[in-house]
Amino acid sequence: MSNFIVGLTGGIASGKSEVSRRFEALGITVADADIAAREVVAVGSPALAEIVERFGPDVVQADGSLDRSRLRQRVFADAGERRALEAITHPAIRARVKSLCESAPGPYAMAAIPLLTEAGGRPSYPWLDRILVIDTPEAVQLSRLLRRDTIDEVLAQRMIDAQATRQQRLALADDVILNDGLPEQLQPQVERLDSLYRHLARQ
Ligand code: ADP
Repeated sequence: MSNFIVGLTGGIASGKSEVSRRFEALGITVADADIAAREVVAVGSPALAEIVERFGPDVVQADGSLDRSRLRQRVFADAGERRALEAITHPAIRARVKSLCESAPGPYAMAAIPLLTEAGGRPSYPWLDRILVIDTPEAVQLSRLLRRDTIDEVLAQRMIDAQATRQQRLALADDVILNDGLPEQLQPQVERLDSLYRHLARQ
């Protein structure tokens, strides 16, 4: 039962997964908003029922599960449709991540929310006690993204440009982990923050 929750965010390929693994190795639960996003629209979920009501039965496949690619096509070029979808899914995702954190064992818990800045920042997540930003220079981010996802540079740059800027993310940060060097250089930063969060959670 954790009463102290740290939000973890950062741009695409900034190193969120790498940092999450290191906190998990120290016994900390990290609830992932991307995983929650899939869980909240599972067959039988209230969010899926709302989506069907709003977008029609053709966004569901024969087995009753959400037809993601069809839904994506529907909202892709229409900001109004996209907002309607997000109005259904975002509250459900936030509630799921919050409850996973609250029920986690350990002194504190983390909520990995890649699009924290884009989704309204701190006011959208008033239950976060602290925000940790993984910060990476854009050139490093680009080269890691190219290596990880084997996509071409134009698409990789477009994915980075579609997100918040480094400055917008840093403006939300209580704490920053700079990931511009070797993976091993993350460890002392993770350990220092883990001690800080354990201390703050006891207060
Ligand atoms: P995110 O979860 O933020 O999208 P990842 O943790 O998946 O980012 O990191 C992106 C890619 O870069 C992965 O392939 C990861 O192994 C690699 N990576 C992360 N940090 C470093 C680092 N310090 N040095 C080299 N490669 C790294």
